[in-house]
Amino acid sequence: MKNNHTFSPIRILDQATVNQIAAGEVVERPASVVKELVENAIDAGAHSIRIDIVASADGIVSVRIIDDGCGMSPANALLAFTPHATSKITRIDDLFHIRTLGFRGEALASIAAVSRVTLTTRPQGTGVVAGTKVVVEGGKIIETGDTGAPEGTTVLVEDLFFNTPARKKFQKSKNTEISHIHALLEGICLAHPEISFRLFTDQNEALVTDRSPRILDTIARIYGSNVVKELIPVSLSLPFIKISGYTSRLSLSRKDASRMMIAINQRYVSSPLITSAIKEGYGTLLPKERFPVAFLSLEIDTELVDVNVHPTKKLVRLSRENEIVLAIRESVTTALLSHDLIPAVRTPSQFPTGESGKDAARESGVRYDLLTPPASYGVSESTHAGTVTTDRQLRQTELTTGVVPVDAKLPVMEVIGQFGGIYILATTEVGELVLIDQHAAHERILYEQVIARTGGDHRSQELIVPVVLHRTAHEAAVLFDLLPALAKEGFVLEEFGRDTFLVRAIPVVLGKLEDTTMIDEIVSDLVSEEPARAVNNRERITRIIACRGAIKAGTVCTKEQCQRIVNQIRYAKNPFTCPHGRPTMVRFSRADLDTMFKRT
Ligand code: ADP
Ligand code: MG
Repeated sequence: MKNNHTFSPIRILDQATVNQIAAGEVVERPASVVKELVENAIDAGAHSIRIDIVASADGIVSVRIIDDGCGMSPANALLAFTPHATSKITRIDDLFHIRTLGFRGEALASIAAVSRVTLTTRPQGTGVVAGTKVVVEGGKIIETGDTGAPEGTTVLVEDLFFNTPARKKFQKSKNTEISHIHALLEGICLAHPEISFRLFTDQNEALVTDRSPRILDTIARIYGSNVVKELIPVSLSLPFIKISGYTSRLSLSRKDASRMMIAINQRYVSSPLITSAIKEGYGTLLPKERFPVAFLSLEIDTELVDVNVHPTKKLVRLSRENEIVLAIRESVTTALLSHDLIPAVRTPSQFPTGESGKDAARESGVRYDLLTPPASYGVSESTHAGTVTTDRQLRQTELTTGVVPVDAKLPVMEVIGQFGGIYILATTEVGELVLIDQHAAHERILYEQVIARTGGDHRSQELIVPVVLHRTAHEAAVLFDLLPALAKEGFVLEEFGRDTFLVRAIPVVLGKLEDTTMIDEIVSDLVSEEPARAVNNRERITRIIACRGAIKAGTVCTKEQCQRIVNQIRYAKNPFTCPHGRPTMVRFSRADLDTMFKRT
């Protein structure tokens, strides 16, 4: 290729090159192949779709999708591989009323351009006895003919990216690719409860749904009845939009929006606009950094939905966006208000972020104004249980085993009080005002304590009663890979039947464990976040332990407890930021304040 600016003639690219370029957009990774082929099966009216993934240590070896849909005639089976060949639209106007998942006619051509595809198909109910087989490799048809085949279509994709080495290199580990496929299929299953899906990875059943008219059955099948118990129905019908589905009680929330599953006209989409509308529906019921679990299915007039804006159609553009957002927000708020799950007055320590929030919420049947924050935001009483937990956490980080004493990095500080259950106010000997983020500070202290402990048994303490953890198949796979790294940090987990683990021991620094949800949270963090490139497993695990073991933002502390946090942070090697790099404190000198009040 020339990279100087001398004249070179313009050429029309040959079809094979054009197809490969197009494939780059549609076929990003193995999960995109699964998506396109499963969508074709759905468009073909299948009742049951089976997905087989074969993987080796290097990644995905083959993908096979079997459907019992309408099938194809011999002529169509060949045409299907031609770019821009589709049976789903005929005119430009059709683009504005799309009901099918596909319409561009480029998926099969694109996939076949970068792999070897074997398609076998027989049309449904036409009495045609022989099926058709077509094999295409790198965009070239290498075999066609009759074959025995059941009604419906089977597509086998092998040697993906064999002729695009750059793309092949970008594939992540086998487990990462499988978890992408799993996550994608979860979304598709929820958008189509009326279809039975079965995913097998290396012949192990990984995800199964039954045909059902009720999405709740699908949710239960994928996420278990514990999730179903925490859901409230949402429903709203307006002339241009119909909303149905479920959203979670306050007792079930997550740290990201990844379990807010949205389908628009039975297309599983990712829509930050809609997920934030759902979150807004909760008003101040959920802390800013917590997200509900939600499964919403939206039926929106097809003219209002533009699905032709993104190569993989995962993002859609909506007209009358504001009205749609408003409708979703309303429907969620209404659903929440019609259930007695809202505590009357919430002191910040009662932010319902885990199982424990549930009881508090149930006991008080009083409703709470969604949109105004608690009046008593600044001054709150700590509960007895809260005080005990905080004391335990502080005692743990006062133990200096293994920590080399160092000089204090900060001056002596005297606590004035706590604001909002989050910030500690203190003054220094030299008369400065310091605001300290109690969670960030305690997280830093705990983090340094974990780092300072080197190897050996004293990292670990056995649990008297082992905790049982159940995970989805792909989370279990991710967790399984992390077991050795976890053991090094004192977390001893054992496989205990399918997708289930026994937690036998936990790091000493977590102290005596009163509440096992902490273990669950730590494991959820570990399996749910994509590891950042620069951070190794040990560092990740350490940060998560520190974060989950530390006093939470929103915990009301006594003055004495605040003072203990302040005393401890003074001796941290780096008292200024939490392990994620956020500041632990801000400082105002007398002069700073004077300037703010224009006293100078
Ligand atoms: P699109 O889905 O956008 O039409 P594709 O390249 O995915 O484009 O498929 C091309 C055509 O092949 C489809 O329009 C459909 O007629 C046919 N086809 C593909 N997969 C199937 C299938 N599983 N069952 C029946 N027909 C299929
Ligand atoms: Mg398609």
